[in-house]
Amino acid sequence: MMTDMSNRFDTLIVGMGASALKCADELLRMGRKSVGILVDDALDGTSRNAGSDKQTYYKLTLSGNGGDSVHEMAETFYSGGCVDGPNALTEAALSAACFLRLCELGVQFPMNRYGEYIGYRTDHDPRNRATSAGPLTSKQMTEALEKNVREKGACFIEKRMAIRIVVRDNQAKGVICIHTETNELEVYSANHIVWATGGPASIYQNVSYPVRHTGMSGAPILAGAAACNVTEWQYGLGSISPKWNVSGTYMQALPRFVSTDKDGNDGRDFLLPYFENESDMLLSIFLKGYQWPFDARKAEKGSSRIDLAVQGEIQKGRRVFLDFLNNPVPGLIDFSSLNAEAYSYLEKAGAFLDTPIQRLAHMNQPAIDFYMSKGVDLHTEKLEIALCAQHMNGGIMVNEWWESEIKSLFVIGECAGTHGVYRPGGSALNAGQVGGARSARKISFSKERLPDPVNADGEISELAGIIEKCMSGKSNLSELAFEESSLMSKYAGAIREKSEIDALIQRNTRLLQHFTEYVHISSKKEIPGLFRFFDTLVSRLTVASGIKEYIKSSGVNRGSSVYTENGAPDSFSDTDPYFDSIQEIRLKDGVFHTSIRNRLPIPSQDDFFENVWREFRQGKW
Ligand SMILES: Cc1cc2nc3c(=O)[nH]c(=O)nc-3n(C[C@H](O)[C@H](O)[C@H](O)COP(=O)(O)OP(=O)(O)OC[C@H]3O[C@@H](n4cnc5c(N)ncnc54)[C@H](O)[C@@H]3O)c2cc1C
Repeated sequence: MMTDMSNRFDTLIVGMGASALKCADELLRMGRKSVGILVDDALDGTSRNAGSDKQTYYKLTLSGNGGDSVHEMAETFYSGGCVDGPNALTEAALSAACFLRLCELGVQFPMNRYGEYIGYRTDHDPRNRATSAGPLTSKQMTEALEKNVREKGACFIEKRMAIRIVVRDNQAKGVICIHTETNELEVYSANHIVWATGGPASIYQNVSYPVRHTGMSGAPILAGAAACNVTEWQYGLGSISPKWNVSGTYMQALPRFVSTDKDGNDGRDFLLPYFENESDMLLSIFLKGYQWPFDARKAEKGSSRIDLAVQGEIQKGRRVFLDFLNNPVPGLIDFSSLNAEAYSYLEKAGAFLDTPIQRLAHMNQPAIDFYMSKGVDLHTEKLEIALCAQHMNGGIMVNEWWESEIKSLFVIGECAGTHGVYRPGGSALNAGQVGGARSARKISFSKERLPDPVNADGEISELAGIIEKCMSGKSNLSELAFEESSLMSKYAGAIREKSEIDALIQRNTRLLQHFTEYVHISSKKEIPGLFRFFDTLVSRLTVASGIKEYIKSSGVNRGSSVYTENGAPDSFSDTDPYFDSIQEIRLKDGVFHTSIRNRLPIPSQDDFFENVWREFRQGKW
């Protein structure tokens, strides 16, 4: 085990995505020196590997004459339901500063000739607050931040997978990790831990998360932190290989949807029965372009019928593909049958062309080039898709400093649960930057110092015992991981089958409680995977337990989920009785406890300048 000084830091950041690097950037800017960034693999994570045809960043309006304000933006976040007001206000308040910092570091957000950072309207956005640096906005952000942080001298501790947070008297003291090359356990001590491991992607099989991302949300839950809103996710249509959202022009090009048997034979059109007629179906395909996330409110009459139809085929054991060579209706499309919005868009784009691939090439050739660069030629091949988990809106509950219920344990980025039922597209990246900035600010209130080494002998011997017992013959790790994540996608994703949730919980509880009996590995190389699976079980159980309680208390179709009973969706309601509530969930003595509280309102402050200035000078927060 490492014993030198480099295993102690004033602040230890776990993860190296956009949020983690933002936190490091702020700490270094404020003159902190003892900042460690611990990461399993520097090239992993969602920020670095995900994108879409135009990856969105949501920010305060910085162009035009339409007006905007911090409080108005906070209201937009708050109006998504189940969002705490202090988080909404802070995400709005720091939006401009965080965005401009990225511009300063070289992220290519477009401006007009007068320097206005122009925007467009995204989903759940009453203004034009969205912007984009292209298909790989979050990659650009991550690289720009990393370059700066490396130049400023942060200490990177690579090839380390954090698996446990060491807590004493409700205060975070350190992190236990596995060296992913030597497979040895190591302990790092810190006065402040910033957990930035991204969304818990591995709980599902069908995901748009990049292959290089799994997440590690179970560790803060095991450490005693509360989670909130874990029922709330974003699901949408994504290609399976490569993993990529098929939003925007992929849908506006009006491809054909075809389902096949397991071997890719018996191709069938299946969408039409979900729609009133062909033009209703064509319009919904078109609208899926900007209405990408599955939305319960659009599941009965709107564009989300497409997602339901796709999931319906997959539930039957079939596979679904997008075919860009053929139209979704026999022969050519009669564009005059489209509604005014779709007609005028395609007309303006000059895209009244014969086939989907021609329309896509005309409107967005890079969208075709992207797949080509990943070995998929849309001119000759069909693209396999599924209804995929893309983002967790809930997560570990944090206050307005992004500090969890465990003192000095900050949770930022997608791992933190600051979004509610609905959120504007692009607000995840904004929230990650704000969480990074806020946690750094709170940390900067304390004097920097090296911590005393934490004694984690008890935890280390428990973990070593798990390894020893699981190293017992033929490995079943990938098999178990596949089985459980597939069931989660089938029954507890966008479509949640009430009668299956208990069984899911029982299976995963059994696996967790009797982990060393059921889970086997055959070599030391599998140790990181073993603990990733352990963590996935904790995260999955947290989500499934949250769903179970939600069904008991309300079960109203909302957000990106629809609840079914023996396959039939519940009735759709316009009112959500829990819109102003937060579901909290904690793990105590091996049992998940769920409770519901009223959400916190948006704070109304005394903004009289001299008063605030005095408080600021006196550090009175
Ligand atoms: C296809 C797709 C499209 C998206 N489009 C948008 C969009 O348009 N707008 C938007 O706002 N959001 C979008 N998102 C969401 C957004 O990209 C993510 O929420 C965000 O990038 C997460 O950043 P993060 O810093 O929290 O985590 P990540 O970028 O996932 O980073 C997590 C880091 O933690 C490390 N790590 C994980 N576990 C461990 C461990 N145990 N020990 C050590 N290190 C660990 C990883 O290696 C990685 O460095 C999209 C997501 C997907 C999947």
